[in-house]
Amino acid sequence: MKVFDQLESRRAWAPEEQAILDAVRRVCDDVVAPNAAGFDKAGQFPWANVEALNRLGLNGIFVPEACGGNPTRFKLYLEVVKAISQACASTGVIYATTFHGMKPLIEFGSEEQKRRLLPRIAAGGLGSLAITEPSAGSDATGMKTRFTPHGDHIVVDGGKTFITSGDVAELLLVFGKWSEIDDARGSISALILEKGTPGFSVGRLEDKMGLRASSTAAINFDKVRVPRANLLGNPGDGLKILLASLNRSRPSIAAHALGIATAAFKDMTAYMNTRRQSGRRIAEFQANQFLLADLASEFALCEAWLDHVADLVDGGEDDFALAASIAKLRASDLAMRMATEAVQMHGGYGYIRDYRVERLMRDAKITQIWEGTNQVHRQLIGRSFVER
Ligand SMILES: Cc1cc2nc3c(=O)[nH]c(=O)nc-3n(C[C@H](O)[C@H](O)[C@H](O)COP(=O)(O)OP(=O)(O)OC[C@H]3O[C@@H](n4cnc5c(N)ncnc54)[C@H](O)[C@@H]3O)c2cc1C
Repeated sequence: MKVFDQLESRRAWAPEEQAILDAVRRVCDDVVAPNAAGFDKAGQFPWANVEALNRLGLNGIFVPEACGGNPTRFKLYLEVVKAISQACASTGVIYATTFHGMKPLIEFGSEEQKRRLLPRIAAGGLGSLAITEPSAGSDATGMKTRFTPHGDHIVVDGGKTFITSGDVAELLLVFGKWSEIDDARGSISALILEKGTPGFSVGRLEDKMGLRASSTAAINFDKVRVPRANLLGNPGDGLKILLASLNRSRPSIAAHALGIATAAFKDMTAYMNTRRQSGRRIAEFQANQFLLADLASEFALCEAWLDHVADLVDGGEDDFALAASIAKLRASDLAMRMATEAVQMHGGYGYIRDYRVERLMRDAKITQIWEGTNQVHRQLIGRSFVER
């Protein structure tokens, strides 16, 4: 693992950042990882993990100080997502989803909105990001949820599907179309919906292949009256907010994928160094060493690239959308391949639920699908080279 240790040492965490990471890793080792298999098997929301992380005040690392937080570098946030996801991918995505939903409020919200809404997130409340609809997935501009202004309120009608933490979130960032604007893209707007608002309901919770401890909800809006004070920016600002929020959530999803890949690589190499066949450890067979070489090389490059993206963000660079796409694409393809090969290297035992690699393979698949499918990312990256 020397090459990875070298990468880690180059991150040069400040003492207070290192203290946060050490505390997170301790909670992951003591609570999150030991709970992961049980929550996965029961398909149960991992409240014990969420509460253990909340005791560290972990949402505070991305909430402004004036709202109860203690913000740090984006690079540290990504490392935290990796650490949690390595221990339990479900808990990792629950934590990351709060960031995905609330970062646009932090970036585009007014001071009044932030001071009113964010303290409950700093205190450990969950956030959610609601974009996808049954007929609007990869092309979010096809969304049908409608925002109709009515005095001091906005009436929300419609519904969203596949919303991570949609049933448990304190605050949901919801995208919809402003009724008074007649333009498919220009009408998209964003508002914060608070838990318990009348007319909001959960239609169903999905029964999933992986990430079985995180909840994925279909949610409905039936004449939900949201205070106009919860609109982010102006009517029609939604597409700008949506694209900016995806730029931040894609590196975060890359970190989630790399957490899964790390767990798979560790389990695979540990098993290969103990399992013996034909009188040798299976790591000693050259064919398997070639596999390790390919996976470790891709892993190192993905880690280094994500560090690069984090440096762009922490350095105040605005134009990092393609770098974020590349990180999401490669890290998620690696997570899927790493987990699949980890199962393969465990032979028959890899297919049995007693071994973690079986769960990792189920958890990895979604990383290639959400936050823009990898087909969409290939299209975005490829299109950038077409001269106009
Ligand atoms: C567990 C889970 C959690 C999720 N969490 C959230 C969440 O918190 N918030 C949220 O808003 N959404 C969430 N999603 C939704 C997720 O982001 C979408 O499923 C994803 O964007 C794909 O949309 P879709 O499922 O409608 O597939 P579609 O868009 O219908 O795509 C189907 C297939 O067509 C391909 N395709 C589509 N368009 C193109 C194109 N232009 N070029 C080439 N191929 C294309 C896709 O790559 C895919 O292979 C979640 C989904 C799941 C399963």
